Amino acid sequence: MNYRHAYHAGNVGDVLKHIAVARIVRYLQKKPGAIRVIDTHAGIGLYDLAGDEATRTGEAERGVVRVLAAEAPAEVAALIAPWQEVVEAENPDGTLRLYPGSPWLVRRLLRPQDRLTVVELHPADAEVLKELFYGDVQVRAVELDGWLALNAFVPPKERRGLVLVDPAFEVPGEVARLAHRLAKAWRKWPTGVYCGWYPVKTGSESEEILAILSEAGVAEHLVAELTVRRPDPDGPMAGCGLAIINPPFMLSGELELVLGWLGTVLAQGPGGGFRVTHHA
Ligand code: SAM
Repeated sequence: MNYRHAYHAGNVGDVLKHIAVARIVRYLQKKPGAIRVIDTHAGIGLYDLAGDEATRTGEAERGVVRVLAAEAPAEVAALIAPWQEVVEAENPDGTLRLYPGSPWLVRRLLRPQDRLTVVELHPADAEVLKELFYGDVQVRAVELDGWLALNAFVPPKERRGLVLVDPAFEVPGEVARLAHRLAKAWRKWPTGVYCGWYPVKTGSESEEILAILSEAGVAEHLVAELTVRRPDPDGPMAGCGLAIINPPFMLSGELELVLGWLGTVLAQGPGGGFRVTHHA
């Protein structure tokens, strides 16, 4: 396990994933019943963008920094607001220094009746995560293999909720594994919403995921993909996507609007773009 998310916090992938996660949580909270969010690959929860790791890569400069500096049209601004408000609340003096990862973002969105389970395998990162949520009765932080957790913690006792699966993609075949494991978890908890993140290298990832989910009989799912340059298997990551099972009503249309705007703000070269493909 070489991957440390501190080098990548606030990058293009985080922005897409966190905007979508915040919207899904807000949708689930339209009903008063408690929700459970399970984050299987959680990282450390909150990141210092002025720290050594983040400044060494500068990825946040090409991600969250650009998004917050750009002026979003009103309809897009309303859609990204649940995420943006949490980011801004962490940085009350207006200087972006702390970036909330998925655990901290979700924690900030929870109502008193909601619960969050965060799972991290890297021992040092898991320790930071446990410390961050020490004494918080709404959050359970666990050091465990996220793939095992996906099997063990699904279904939760709450009827409704979100499972975020955000692996580090350090081993070959992770895109297919993600799709197969999402489908397996969905069979155990068919009413849950699932969101899996994947990197775009070849440009064929979404087709692979859609084929696996369709073949597994997953009734309703979508992929939402954003590329900031033309995909090249030998080049750097060209973008990223989300595979979402049981997307809330309206989410695919909203993501089209958001990705259309993000595509222009986050472009790094020719040949980028976005797609949202929804199977219902
Ligand atoms: N979800 C986080 C966020 O949005 O803020 C970022 C997660 S990062 C992309 C992936 C994380 O998965 C890393 O912190 C890494 O240490 C962890 N990881 C790698 N393999 C894992 C495994 N098998 N189980 C759980 N966590 C794992």
